[in-house]
Amino acid sequence: MSTIMYGAPCVDQLTLDQSRRVEALREKGVNVTLAVVRVGDDPASEVYVRNKKNACAKLGIVSREIHLPGDTDQETLENCLDALSADDGVTGILLQLPLPAPLKEQEALLHIAPEKDADGFRSGNCGTLIAGGEGTLPCTPRGILYMLKYYGVEMTGKRAVVIGRSAIVGKPCALMLLNENCTVTVCHSKTQNLEAITSEADIVVAAVGKAEMIKGSMLKEGCAVVDVGINRTPEGLKGDVEFESASKKAAFISPVPGGVGKMTVAMLMENVIDLAEKGAGPAGRK
Ligand code: NDP
Repeated sequence: MSTIMYGAPCVDQLTLDQSRRVEALREKGVNVTLAVVRVGDDPASEVYVRNKKNACAKLGIVSREIHLPGDTDQETLENCLDALSADDGVTGILLQLPLPAPLKEQEALLHIAPEKDADGFRSGNCGTLIAGGEGTLPCTPRGILYMLKYYGVEMTGKRAVVIGRSAIVGKPCALMLLNENCTVTVCHSKTQNLEAITSEADIVVAAVGKAEMIKGSMLKEGCAVVDVGINRTPEGLKGDVEFESASKKAAFISPVPGGVGKMTVAMLMENVIDLAEKGAGPAGRK
């Protein structure tokens, strides 16, 4: 029988520690403060931002939302991020993506000071991941790694396959697994004979966005499966993994919903607190 890797116990463990850390910072005179910049009126972004603000409120983190109109130009957005970067009252900054066209995401992200980059999306922080340095890690892959460790999945020397190569999930996740001494293969839409690759993997991370494309028949007996996919279907929310068949093969499997999704916001809070502790805020500035 497989162990179902629910996100909730991981989040509970994290929350306990995070509340204590926010309080300890407050006692030192540092108010952990996340500035969230949202451009335009994308309804999904509005929900994501609300969830992030609620998570901040539960931990006593101050959140400041800066809502810019959909026709904001690149320079205005970059000036806003520059100002927040220079603001001693702000310890972390998040630019809610995607941005409306024609705004350029990567160029805008460069205007977030690296020591305040709460999402870890700034290219410099991704660079430190390659160099093995100390940048902010992107939230979803950080949550995946936390979950694997929490449930005691062995990583050193294991074969890991990451399906999907996006800059926010697949690529950083592959690097993090590599840093945990896995032997990593990254698959994508041009990969040939995916099944031959997944069926040899000890750890499979599916981050594709295609409902139930990974079947139990594609997996190795006793593997660990992390399902990152969030797919809205007429039958409800589905992951990238067909849970019913996969759970018969896997020793560990994360469900959708209730798995990785819960980890992402919890890891954002972890990043925000880490940054404040590293001294981005007024009292802690080095
Ligand atoms: P992207 O659309 O940016 O990337 C999808 C990746 O899947 C691409 O690299 C693509 O390959 C690859 N792909 C597409 N079709 C196939 C295929 N048939 N076989 C193998 N690979 C394929 O998505 P994201 O990384 O942003 O997100 C992936 C999923 O994770 C989505 O469902 C998203 O909603 C979910 N998600 C969940 C989060 C959470 O908190 N749980 C957070 C972020 C995302 P190519 O590069 O060749 O196009």
